[in-house]
Amino acid sequence: ELVFRTDNLTKVYQTGEVKVFALAGVDLELFSGELAVLLGPSGSGKSTLLNILGGLDHATDGRVWFHDLELTDLGDRGLTRFRRDHVGFVFQFYNLVPSLTARENVQLVTDVARDPMTPEEALERVGLSHRLDHFPAQLSGGEQQRVAIARAVAKRPEVLLCDEPTGALDSKTGIQVLEVLKHLNEELGTSTVVITHAAEIRKMAHRVIWFQDGRIANTEINDERLEPA
Ligand code: ADP
Ligand code: ADP
Repeated sequence: ELVFRTDNLTKVYQTGEVKVFALAGVDLELFSGELAVLLGPSGSGKSTLLNILGGLDHATDGRVWFHDLELTDLGDRGLTRFRRDHVGFVFQFYNLVPSLTARENVQLVTDVARDPMTPEEALERVGLSHRLDHFPAQLSGGEQQRVAIARAVAKRPEVLLCDEPTGALDSKTGIQVLEVLKHLNEELGTSTVVITHAAEIRKMAHRVIWFQDGRIANTEINDERLEPA
């Protein structure tokens, strides 16, 4: 079953006379439960795609579907509802509230979600049961990112979108964070898209998509279930 499909997805940024095609016609299918990774040089369109899939940004042209819901038909209110109901985000910087503990940071989400995990379960799933009452400043960078991941999955989103989750971490810690994402993808079946420069993710991902100049330059499939018939 498809979770996302795009057709000729295009995003143009215009600054004065200059037009930049951040996405220059992307056709993509992502299956439910997949772990997909986006690779490619800086400026090739990876974040732009992730932001449109997550309903953070509007396309200029082309179409995007989440199951049968056409995101490119929605206005800002519809996109807000889509994000709230279906999407968890993880970014390079953790954006934790410094005055709240790990548990309280996750609770900000579980208090308002429809069918959340407990904060304790979410933090247990990222290996932080021993850090529930620590404040962000008492945690390492990798631990802070794991709190941010727990916060993102605590509402049981169908989709988890991660933009450079390893960008601020050393490579060993970055790999641990990617392993947490892989583990959550397997345990919860969350469809996951990750932008990272950490090459190790290629072995963990079901699908690796290379971007170049706003286009998909190559795709590698590591799971026979995803092979086109
Ligand atoms: P990547 O994530 O692969 O580094 P991006 O999606 O961030 O690439 O950017 C793709 C292109 O779009 C780049 O040329 C970038 O400079 C341009 N771009 C991204 N966001 C904006 C913006 N808000 N205004 C103008 N140009 C932008
Ligand atoms: P506006 O932004 O002008 O309020 P929306 O884009 O929110 O318009 O809504 C357009 C249509 O899409 C509405 O009929 C709404 O019911 C439907 N819709 C919006 N979000 C969702 C969603 N998450 N799931 C299903 N239908 C939705």
